Amino acid sequence: MGRNKDGGHYSRRKFLTHSALGVGAALTLPAFGALSPAERQKYYQFWDKLQPLPDSKKLGIALVGLGNYATHQLAPALLQTKLCRLTGIVTGTPSKADEWAKKYSIPKKSIYSYETYDQIKDNPDIDIIYVVLPNSMHAEYTIRGARAGKHMISEKPMATSVADAQAMIDACRKANKKLSIGYRLHFEPYNEEMTRLGQDEVFGPVKHIEGGFAFTFPDDPTRWRLNKKLAGGGPLMDLGIYVVQGSIYTMGKLPVAVTARQETHNQHLFSQVEESIYWDLEFPGNVTAKGETSYSHNANYLRATAQNGWFRLEPSFNYRGIHGETSKGAMDFPEVYQQALQMDDFAYCVLNDKPTRVPGEMGLRDMKILTAIYEAAGTGKKVKLDL
Ligand code: NAD
Repeated sequence: MGRNKDGGHYSRRKFLTHSALGVGAALTLPAFGALSPAERQKYYQFWDKLQPLPDSKKLGIALVGLGNYATHQLAPALLQTKLCRLTGIVTGTPSKADEWAKKYSIPKKSIYSYETYDQIKDNPDIDIIYVVLPNSMHAEYTIRGARAGKHMISEKPMATSVADAQAMIDACRKANKKLSIGYRLHFEPYNEEMTRLGQDEVFGPVKHIEGGFAFTFPDDPTRWRLNKKLAGGGPLMDLGIYVVQGSIYTMGKLPVAVTARQETHNQHLFSQVEESIYWDLEFPGNVTAKGETSYSHNANYLRATAQNGWFRLEPSFNYRGIHGETSKGAMDFPEVYQQALQMDDFAYCVLNDKPTRVPGEMGLRDMKILTAIYEAAGTGKKVKLDL
């Protein structure tokens, strides 16, 4: 890992010529590493200045599953994106189809049900499919989408098992299509600053990390997030994954072992999945990243202690209003539309045949870690990670 200095070549579409914008290699995004302040500034300036493509040239995105995230975050973001736009939907609810068709001018031929989904292969207006379904359904709809010849984005967690995550990667590879995970915080400047401060050892080597993401779950046992078959697990799958991610991008290294414990008090809500889980990820060099996630309290922070100072975000994982400080003073970055940038960045990768910085392989890596955290919590033993 570390910084990837791969110089980019932007071949296919002349209208994306960056030299014309004076931003050079601004979009040379490292796959797992840190952006320097200059690179970061260029990156955001590039998107600020970029003229949107005409609709006819934008890549078409179809959203699969029109629930909360698709409705309130992704679809509005697709009205702001410059290289892609919403051109199709896949839903099991006809009334939603009508509403969305009207609101986003989606033609009837680009509206699919879960049964007719595979016919999307014949639709030239759809280049990318974005799967926003309950976690255990990501694998099936990503694999079917790749077989239909489309580039794929899957929401996090990528899947509910390592085997499913691997099958998704294999299907996309076989179809020669790109696969990305909805890790929006890789496009968010405060989280990128944690990456830089940690990986570039701006305050010396990182010695310790703490992170937490938790909220109090509504008192409704019928929600799919409490159903093991659909969710794959509880808050760890839903929220803790951000903390694991944060620890890794701050360290710029992969963890080598984990210990964990879980707690469930409210059996009425948490009969199938954990209520809370706490873990210690061990990194090379005797660094520990402590993590917590829960559906019965609130937390939203990522803190790093380094040899010569500290840096932290709180809240750290929100869509908006992220706040950051270091031992030398406050961080100050413009607020960005994370989901719009995430999707535009992927469209950019598709248009220019570049690797995404949030690939399926990263989702698979995280599935392995989440699985190990559950194993450690279940057995009470340290679980080694070989990532
Ligand atoms: P949601 O419950 O609001 O939406 C789920 C959608 O799936 C609904 O439209 C529902 O009708 C449909 N669905 C199809 N089959 C279903 C079934 N068998 N059971 C339940 N629903 C079914 O959920 P959401 O909050 O939109 O989350 C969807 C996905 O997006 C999850 O994987 C979640 O982790 C992810 N997500 C990501 C972020 C992020 O910040 N990246 C934020 C929220 C959610």
